[in-house]
Amino acid sequence: MFSNSNTIIEVKGEESLIADVVAHADNLPKKILEKESMIENDREFDEHEIGKVILRGSKEFSLNIMKEYKINSEDILSGVHCPKCGTLGMERIYANWKCRRCEFHSKLAHRKALDDYFVLLGSVINNTTCRKFLNINSKDVATRILKTSGLNYDEKYRRWEKRS
Ligand SMILES: [Zn+2]
Repeated sequence: MFSNSNTIIEVKGEESLIADVVAHADNLPKKILEKESMIENDREFDEHEIGKVILRGSKEFSLNIMKEYKINSEDILSGVHCPKCGTLGMERIYANWKCRRCEFHSKLAHRKALDDYFVLLGSVINNTTCRKFLNINSKDVATRILKTSGLNYDEKYRRWEKRS
């Protein structure tokens, strides 16, 4: 919600702190440009680091949610959602996912499922857990999917982890 410059905003509490946050809408573009040039000029600004912090934060967040609502990992439904109609449980046929309900075909529908996996169930996945989560039988298919999903392979533990 933006306030226009005629609005008087009454604040209670830490006025300067709130004033920092509440900006009049006509100042916004300038403020955005200022921030942007600050970021551009700041050599310490590291997108990679920020990405890692966000990832850590969201992982912690979802683990807390799981705990808070007493959701066990076994209670999470496995399978791939149809990107078109949302039905869970697409079938893997050759190199495609096929929706049982609307017959939509997708090559990459598993990506969303893997994202969900990493948000809800942890930062590593192996061939067995992948097959279980995507509802597929073939080890080779799971390997192919994991190999092409931008993950890092940890040879020692024979598992894949999300690139951070
Ligand atoms: Zn569908």
